[in-house]
Amino acid sequence: MKKDDRTVLKRELRRLWRSMDFVSRNPALNDENSPESQIFAELYQQLGMLWEFLGLQCRHWDGYRKNRSGTMLCRICGKLRGADEYWLLLPRKGNKSIGSKTMPTSDETFPHKRAAVVLRDSINFHGVHLTVDVQNAYRSRLLDRDITIASDRIVHFEESGVECMSDTHTLRIRLRARDQKSGLPYGAFPSELPRKLIKQFPILLEYDRHNRFVGVTIFKPSPGARMRASGKMKVKRRDR
Ligand SMILES: [Zn+2]
Repeated sequence: MKKDDRTVLKRELRRLWRSMDFVSRNPALNDENSPESQIFAELYQQLGMLWEFLGLQCRHWDGYRKNRSGTMLCRICGKLRGADEYWLLLPRKGNKSIGSKTMPTSDETFPHKRAAVVLRDSINFHGVHLTVDVQNAYRSRLLDRDITIASDRIVHFEESGVECMSDTHTLRIRLRARDQKSGLPYGAFPSELPRKLIKQFPILLEYDRHNRFVGVTIFKPSPGARMRASGKMKVKRRDR
């Protein structure tokens, strides 16, 4: 937000507070049973909502001040420090930013998953579904055994049926949604696979001039190619 916008916001808030004061001081409010009292109370509520939404533009640039009861309030929008905010305001143009890079917060192992959750959030961004899960370590039971799930930050996104997942130790890309009936897919390092099998996999392993592994390119099988290869004209695509 530009400096000018801050000035505009400050002015808007001042105007709003004047209106709120005006409404709250109206003598009609003293008589609870009068119809005017109801209207003024309603007006006050609506202005309060406007305050909440205007406040979303505030990044609390000027810090906080203590009020008489010792609570910290933003010098610009008057919001409580650290108060829960239920809405996000994003600019339509330019870079959108939600939150900051959250990492596990503790070395402790928590008794169950619920207690270990640090962040779980998701967004649908122009057709891409993105989720971020951050958790501390926790104890879990797997096949009647107690195991510890390590702390982790897991980023997962889906684009046109392709799934990509990144955690602390692995980066996984899946081209096909998991078929529950055929169970977990097989996994093998390239050196373990027979040449015949490798030839079918459209993978390019990238390395630099010091023979260091750089990355992988996967050529996405086009639905048309698959259709011709299988000789079937009807290919049912999995929509997600
Ligand atoms: Zn503020």
